[in-house]
Amino acid sequence: MYRTKTCGELRIGNLGQKVTLAGWVQRSRKLGGMTFIDLRDRYGITQLVVEADADPELVATATSLGREFVIQVVGEVLERQSKNPKMPTGDIEIKVESINILNKSVTPPFTIEDDTDGGEDIRAKYRYLDLRRAPLRKALELRHRIAHEVRNYLDSQNFMEIETPYLIKSTPEGARDFVVPSRMNPGQFYALPQSPQTFKQLLMVAGYDRYFQIVRCFRDEDLRADRQPEFTQIDCEMSFVEQEDVLETFEGMMRTLFKNVLDVDVPNPLPRMSWYDAMDSYGSDKPDIRFDMRLHEVTSLAQGHGFGVFDSVPYVGAIAVPGAAGWSRKETDALTDWVKRPQVGAKGLVYIKLNEDGSVKSSVDKFYSTEDLKAIADAAGASVGDLVLILCGEKRKTQTQLGVLRVELGNRLGLRDPKVFAPLWIVDFPLLEWDDETQRFYAMHHPFTAPKPEHLDLFYSDRKEDLEKVCANAYDFVLNGNELGGGSIRIHDAQMQKRMFEVLGIGEEEADYKFGFIINAFKFGAPPHGGLAFGFDRVCALFGGQDSIRDYIAFPKNNQGRDVMIDSPSEIDDIQLEELQIKLDTKAE
Ligand code: ASP
Repeated sequence: MYRTKTCGELRIGNLGQKVTLAGWVQRSRKLGGMTFIDLRDRYGITQLVVEADADPELVATATSLGREFVIQVVGEVLERQSKNPKMPTGDIEIKVESINILNKSVTPPFTIEDDTDGGEDIRAKYRYLDLRRAPLRKALELRHRIAHEVRNYLDSQNFMEIETPYLIKSTPEGARDFVVPSRMNPGQFYALPQSPQTFKQLLMVAGYDRYFQIVRCFRDEDLRADRQPEFTQIDCEMSFVEQEDVLETFEGMMRTLFKNVLDVDVPNPLPRMSWYDAMDSYGSDKPDIRFDMRLHEVTSLAQGHGFGVFDSVPYVGAIAVPGAAGWSRKETDALTDWVKRPQVGAKGLVYIKLNEDGSVKSSVDKFYSTEDLKAIADAAGASVGDLVLILCGEKRKTQTQLGVLRVELGNRLGLRDPKVFAPLWIVDFPLLEWDDETQRFYAMHHPFTAPKPEHLDLFYSDRKEDLEKVCANAYDFVLNGNELGGGSIRIHDAQMQKRMFEVLGIGEEEADYKFGFIINAFKFGAPPHGGLAFGFDRVCALFGGQDSIRDYIAFPKNNQGRDVMIDSPSEIDDIQLEELQIKLDTKAE
């Protein structure tokens, strides 16, 4: 046996036992003739000691060990002179009798410590070394744990895990596809799934009424904002359900995760908010409800006072920042610059300060009396000591800008504690989004999403104003300002699906070419069905209290979509290209 115990398990109760351990040398140091070695494996760190009067050969071996050498030691468990209460094994050490060097290591390019000296790039290149560090190990342990709980829960609810293919054809999630050329079918390409959407619906047609899969999805998007080109979903679908059934089932799943993984109790039932309320009050379809600071429309109060900027727009909105009336001119100027950044996109920022001494000061004093300003501040929900921030413009756009500002202020004021969890459902999304540029509707979720039953008349109307009002039978699971999951009740009727494609301006031929197989399947007794998918990487990151999903993926890609460890993507050789009958216009540098 290579080892009888791991480096994380020995305690005071093991005193006197003879053990064999194997692991990596975290560090070694000499102290008064004795050699101390920290031995590490996945389970922890155990201190080894080679006494000064030990066999000289043993002392020489101990002295020769470098960082990350792999060794096997035999020794006796002793009580430590100076205990380390910070380590689970801190009460004991191993008095080493023999050391067997299993493998040497060159000096690693960064320290394998919780606080490493390695920069991001070098750690990405040597990801397998980075993964030896405890924070990453804990992240992957958490991921494993959550996956396990998900499988347990869904299994207990009669869900079957069924795999669906990766080499498929375009899916309807609205991103760009990754494509794979087919050698056996020259000139033709597979697309990698953006999600298993069509397959899970076909499984419903096939009668597998509860499906799930922890599955890789591929979307060729620009990788801003902590996205990965391949990411993992907890993908689910159910038959013979209405929205309520789906929400209940998956609220149950999330509740179980919160309880079993974090020992956190979340409200039962979870709050629900319509998309319209979320936009109006939080300026976001994924509101962070850990803090208030809601948006308030002040259009009518702000207009008619000769301030042209407000008078010329359809919407003026405000938020009240608690206790910020004392912010200096410099600070409000900086905030104005901040909202003008392209990422926010506002044209300017107006403020009203409700000073502690009762006075009111604003950046538009010229146009408004103190009473006017107080009325606006009042409508914004401000009290004495607060700072009111006002943006204006087109309604949804301005609300979104206020929403971004609100979150930023939440960060600055420390109102977004990652240990506080405030999940909710967003429901009643618009089914369709009008795009001015292309003069057509797009599906807000995807084209298989059903309209709410009570909106069918609007859905079959030919007036744009009617179609804009149609609500989708769709829902998102939102946690702390992040969309963790989303789904919908699907269209299961070939006629309605046809209508949907028509509304989206997808011609019969195109619909047939892209989705003929599913439209056809719906003719063979498709049951009513619906489902959703959770972003598994993001669930893990938020449960771990982190913003970035990267540490929760064993081998992630960088912002350019590259895996710098294996150096991919990379060129392929001419023979491969020839076999695929592909000619390149350009060669990568
Ligand atoms: N396929 C959808 C997505 O990936 C989720 C769903 O509708 O079930 O967002």
